[in-house]
Amino acid sequence: MPESALEFANVSMTFPDGTEALEGIDLTVAAGEFVAIVGPSGCGKSTILRLASGLLEPSSGTVTRSDRSLGYVFQDATLLPWRTVNRNIDLFLELQGVAKSTMKARSRTALELVRLDGFEKHLPNQLSGGMRMRASVARSLALEPELFLFDEPFGALDEITRQSLNGEISRLFADQHFAGLFITHSISEATFLSTRVLVMSPRPGRLVAEFSVPFPQPRTDELRFQPDFASLCGEISAQLKESLR
Ligand code: ADP
Repeated sequence: MPESALEFANVSMTFPDGTEALEGIDLTVAAGEFVAIVGPSGCGKSTILRLASGLLEPSSGTVTRSDRSLGYVFQDATLLPWRTVNRNIDLFLELQGVAKSTMKARSRTALELVRLDGFEKHLPNQLSGGMRMRASVARSLALEPELFLFDEPFGALDEITRQSLNGEISRLFADQHFAGLFITHSISEATFLSTRVLVMSPRPGRLVAEFSVPFPQPRTDELRFQPDFASLCGEISAQLKESLR
């Protein structure tokens, strides 16, 4: 058995106002796995990420994660508008008290990994939406995360930029060896990125189906036009519709 980066055992989440968000979630993300979760709006996907990061405690069950570092990319880039790209990437390292020399080297590598070199002195409002998300990914990459959590990060971008960033994430996953947990509404995005897709039911969210995604990494745009890819997306879509009944 590979070492697991994240484990949920029989996790349920009921908020103080009585909203039952999640019920009986058993979920493991092993080292070297990229797991995507798809499900209808409001089924508890973001709640799973907040539990995974430790921002929330479950009402029952246990969430286990190693103490090694965690990357988290939100729906918005959440960059500080008065800091340059470089200083935004430094931010989490500063908060962790990483030495200045290490910080410089790690920020530079992260910037190069997301192909933003040349833009280090720009402010967030001088970047396109796709570039802002790249900077946000770089800020977490600089932490050299063991586990990378993505909360529907590319939902607000146009389709072409989104597909290009999907290719970048797949390349980073193949190079950097983090474990990934990616939340999305998009079945094709989930299938393109992941080694496994999990399907959730409407609230209270339960995991109702699992699909293994066999295509080699890193994935490229040609994959989107392969019959095997289209057919797997079709199966996942049918399952998702079934779970809505
Ligand atoms: P998703 O990410 O799948 O759209 P969420 O995880 O954001 O869903 O939310 C799941 C359910 O829990 C929703 O019904 C939402 O309104 C509710 N919810 C989320 N956070 C809270 C909270 N802090 N208090 C009460 N209800 C919440």
